[in-house]
Amino acid sequence: MKLISYRRVSSNKQVTEGDSLEGQKRTIEQWVKRRGHEIVMEFVDGGVSAFKSSTTRKAFCDMLEYAVSNKENVDGIIVYKLSRFARNELARLQAEEELSKAGIQVFSATEEVPEDEDMAHFIRSVLGIVNEQQSRQNSSTVRDRLADTARNGFFPGGQAPFGFKSINATPEHGKKSSKRLVVDEEHRHTVTHMFDLCLNGPKLKGCGVKEIANILNEEGLLKENKYWTPKSVHKVLSNSVYAGELVFTSNVDKKNPEKIVIKVPSIISKEVFKKASESLASRRLQNNNLRAQRSDTLLVGLLKCSTCNCRLTLMTGKGGQFKYYKCKRKRITGASKCTTPNFRVEQLDNLVLDTIATQLFVPENLAKYVGDLQKILNKQLLNSRSTKATISKRQKKVEQQIHNLWNAVSNEKQLIDDFFKTRILELTKQFDSLSSELSKIDNREKFSYYNFSKKHIVDFCRLAIKAVKEGQGDPRLKAFLKTLITEISVFENELILKGPISKITKVISVTKLGTDILSVPSIIPIWRRVRDSNPRWV
Ligand SMILES: [Zn+2]
Repeated sequence: MKLISYRRVSSNKQVTEGDSLEGQKRTIEQWVKRRGHEIVMEFVDGGVSAFKSSTTRKAFCDMLEYAVSNKENVDGIIVYKLSRFARNELARLQAEEELSKAGIQVFSATEEVPEDEDMAHFIRSVLGIVNEQQSRQNSSTVRDRLADTARNGFFPGGQAPFGFKSINATPEHGKKSSKRLVVDEEHRHTVTHMFDLCLNGPKLKGCGVKEIANILNEEGLLKENKYWTPKSVHKVLSNSVYAGELVFTSNVDKKNPEKIVIKVPSIISKEVFKKASESLASRRLQNNNLRAQRSDTLLVGLLKCSTCNCRLTLMTGKGGQFKYYKCKRKRITGASKCTTPNFRVEQLDNLVLDTIATQLFVPENLAKYVGDLQKILNKQLLNSRSTKATISKRQKKVEQQIHNLWNAVSNEKQLIDDFFKTRILELTKQFDSLSSELSKIDNREKFSYYNFSKKHIVDFCRLAIKAVKEGQGDPRLKAFLKTLITEISVFENELILKGPISKITKVISVTKLGTDILSVPSIIPIWRRVRDSNPRWV
C-alpha cells in the first residue's frame, strides 16, 4: 500500500522518548516495513496540541488536502497513535469521513485496527474517546515529572526568574535534558541595586516598591525592555531565588502542595533577603493601616471635585485632630489651581446623609424612577425579542453554510484548499459570536421585571432613612451607599448625587422588609449591563 505518514507532537515539551517526532518516525517506519508498504509522503506538525481546532494545525490540513487530491496514488495514512491524528472526536470524524469517501484509510502503528472496515470504524471511535481521556491524564503525568525534576535539584523549566538563565546541566549532574539556573551577569547589578534601594534607599531609610520601580526606570535598568512596576519589583524582592533557594511548588497533590527547594547560585546574602522581606512586610502594614483609615471614612471614593472633576481625598489637619476631604489636584499642584474649599469630614458626611434621607428616599420620587426604568425595560424587551429572532435566523444560515461546505468536500466538489480553510474558520467564528450575542440578550431579559407595590417602596424608604440616620460609623453604611450612588459632585454650596436607577430598583426589589436594611447590599450583584442606557437620578 502507498501511505502518507503524519506525525505530530503536542505543545507540551515533556513528551516521553517514544513519543518524540523521531521516535514516532522510527515506529512508523518499522510498521510500514514489516507489512511491505511504502511511504509516499510525510507531513509533520510540531508543538500543536490536539485539543485546539484542527484548522490551526497547518500540516494536518495540508495532509488532508494532499491525500484527497492524490487519492489515486494514496491508499492510507499512517500515524503513530490515533491520538496523534486528531484527539478531538469531532475533528477526527470529519476528517475520517472525508478520507473514507476518497477511499483512504487511517492506520495506527501502535494500536491494532482490524481489517474489516465497519469494525475498524467502531474501534477507532472507542480509541478516539479513550484518547480524549488520556490527553487529560497526560497533564497530570507532566506535573509528576516536573516535581521529580525539581526534587533532583534541577530547574523544572518555564521562564527563568529575572537575573538568571537556564542552561543544560553537565553530564555528571544528570540527564542531558536537565536544566539548571546560572546568574545572568547582565542583570546581576540590577538585582543587587534593587535590594540595596529597598534596605538603604537614597536617604538611608529604604524605598518602597513604587519608588524602586521609578528609580530603576529612570536609570534605564529595565526588565527585558519593559518598565518595572511596583508588582514586578515586589516579585523580585520577595523571591528567595536571589538568596540561593528556588522554591518550586508541586501541585501533584492538590490538597497538600509540596514545596521543593532547589539550590541555585545566590546573588545576595540570606541576611539581606531576610531584611528586605521584613521591610516589605512593615511597609505593607503601614499601607494597610492607611487604607483602613481611608476605607473607614464614609465618602472616600464617592466624592468628586466639581471644578477639576477629580476625586476628593482624605487628609488630616495639623495635630491629626480634624479630617478633611480635599481636592486631589489641589493637594498635588497647590491651592491656586482649584477654588473648591476643603470640607470637614463630619460636616460633609452629615450633609450628604441628610440630603439622601430627604431627597432620595422619598416614596414619590422613587416610584417615579422605578416607573421610568420599567418603561425603558419594556421597550428593550420588545426590541430584544425581535433582535433575538433575527440573530437566530442568521445563526441557522451560518450553520447551514458550514454544513454545505463539508458536504461539498465529501462530494468532491470542494478541495481542502486555502479558500476552504479560511472560509470554514470565518464561518465558525461567525457562529460563535452570534451564540454569545444570544446569551447576552438572554441574561438581560432575566433582569427585566420589577414587581413590587407602592407600599413596598414606602416601607423601603422608612428603613433606608433609619439606616442612614442611625448607621453612622457602621462600615456597612458605606457599602450601602456605594451600592446606590456612584458619584457625588461637590460644589461650594450644592451637591449632585448620581447613581443608576437600575441599581436602586434592584436594591428595593431584593430588600426584605422587616430586616436590617444594611445587611442587604453585600449580596446584591451589581447589574452593569444596561447601566448606561438608564436614566440617572440627580
Ligand atoms: Zn478641584
